[in-house]
Amino acid sequence: MQITEKAQAEEIVRRSGTDISKCMQCGKCTAACPAGYKMDIQPHRVVWELINGHVDVLQKSVTPWKCFSCFTCAARCPRGVSPAALIESVRLSVIRQQGENGITAEDIPEYIDEKMPQQAIVAAFRKYNK
Ligand code: SF4
Ligand code: SF4
Repeated sequence: MQITEKAQAEEIVRRSGTDISKCMQCGKCTAACPAGYKMDIQPHRVVWELINGHVDVLQKSVTPWKCFSCFTCAARCPRGVSPAALIESVRLSVIRQQGENGITAEDIPEYIDEKMPQQAIVAAFRKYNK
C-alpha cells in the first residue's frame, strides 16, 4: 500500500511529539540555529513544509544531515515547538528507507577526530545508521 505524502508528514510529526500548529513562522529558531548556514531548508521552513504536508522535499534535503541536534531552536521557540525533534524525525524516516543511510560503518574513520569520546562515536553511529 502506497503511503501518501500527507500521511507520511503526519507520521513524522506524530513521532516528533511536537505541535506544529503552534508555529507562527517567526523565524527565531532559524536565527538561533548554529548550523543554519549549512542547511538548504532552514528550521522554520522545515516546520512550514510539514504543516503543508510536504515530505519529499525534506527527505531530499541536506538539512537532516547538517542539524547538530543541539535543541537551541526548541529552546528559543516562543511557542514550544521543536524543529529539532521534527528534523530528527525526518532523518529517521530517511534512515528507514532502505539504502538511504546517512553514513555507513565504512565511512566512520573519515569523520573521527582522535579526541572524540568513544561514547559520541557510538551515539552518532546509532543515529545515522539503522
Ligand atoms: S518553530 Fe517556533 S521559533 Fe520557529 S518559526 Fe515556529 S514559532 Fe517561530
Ligand atoms: S537542533 Fe538542529 S535545527 Fe535546531 S538549532 Fe540545533 S542545529 Fe539548528
